[in-house]
Amino acid sequence: AFKAWVVEKGESGQSLALKDFDETGLMDGDVTVRVTHSGLNYKDGLAMTGKMPVVRRFPMIPGIDFCGIVEASENPAWKPGDTVVLTGWGVGETHLGGLAERARVKGEWLVPLPDGLSPAQAMAIGTAGYTAMLSVIALEKHGLTPQAGPAVVTGASGGVGSVAVALLKRGGWHVIAATGRDGEADYLKGLGASEILDRSELASDPRPLAKERWAAGIDAVGSKTLANLLAMTQAGGAIAACGNAGGMDLPSSVAPFILRGVSLLGINSVTTPQTPRREAWARLARELDLDALAAMTTTVGLEDVGGLAETILAGKTRGRTVVEIG
Ligand code: NAP
Repeated sequence: AFKAWVVEKGESGQSLALKDFDETGLMDGDVTVRVTHSGLNYKDGLAMTGKMPVVRRFPMIPGIDFCGIVEASENPAWKPGDTVVLTGWGVGETHLGGLAERARVKGEWLVPLPDGLSPAQAMAIGTAGYTAMLSVIALEKHGLTPQAGPAVVTGASGGVGSVAVALLKRGGWHVIAATGRDGEADYLKGLGASEILDRSELASDPRPLAKERWAAGIDAVGSKTLANLLAMTQAGGAIAACGNAGGMDLPSSVAPFILRGVSLLGINSVTTPQTPRREAWARLARELDLDALAAMTTTVGLEDVGGLAETILAGKTRGRTVVEIG
């Protein structure tokens, strides 16, 4: 048996506990991994609390990402001793996840630990940071450069937001960080933000169009925030939508699209194919400032993570939280 956080569903609803999980209970997969690090993501908060039905199988081990060492492999791509990274693929939702000492997954889901990153750094980046990288890549593919104007990041003090601020700064952008936390201005400036925007300015009922304020954006919040972002995007600009921390809805209009040629770029990190997945990790390893990464990272033990489920949903964790296992 190995230690794991386990979500179960009973008559009184969902429960969460740190338990000894029997190895025979692991699901099908051709690679077994001794997990050394996981990360805390917003979706893990949803899974652990049941606030949204992200868990599709019970019992479930939450944890949508992990890094660890291959113990056994029937997949020719991996051998015992390899250090591997997993994000997405339904792990922690439909397939037993990473907040545990062991995981068994499909080898095709894994990527090697990128050169230049330690396992702890890979999980400090985690799903959130990897999603921030995919968002930056999407904006670049759209043809946007820092010469076009500023870039805005919402949910800036969170995991996706913190990495997005650091990556955009490194790419030469003038970064406007939108946050609801007064106390985090110095933190965000330290990561590379040039301006801080109070998120309440993006929370009002959106008008179809408003004064143009940025050429690009990375949005972790959704709902009215995303609608306001679109209304304030300059002609030809684009917003990468990757999150819903403020809601799943989008009370927008077609005005930004048809009157300003603004684009909305959708980001889904879960099922990104191997080639763009490895490219994104390689860029993270090369481009993310490791001092900035350290500044946005808090490390906790496996036993602590259950207690943080409500904290991340309340928007009270700063940057990224790494879970050190074993
Ligand atoms: P996180 O660390 O909790 O960051 C979310 C941030 O959003 C918070 O720190 C807070 O920032 C802001 N926020 C929270 N609640 C809000 C509200 N009600 N209204 C406005 N702003 C609010 O979470 P994360 O792990 O970075 O994930 C961020 C979002 O991206 C989540 O919705 C997550 O599910 C999504 N995501 C999607 C993908 C994908 O594949 N598309 C991958 C990873 C994550 P401030 O305090 O600075 O305002």
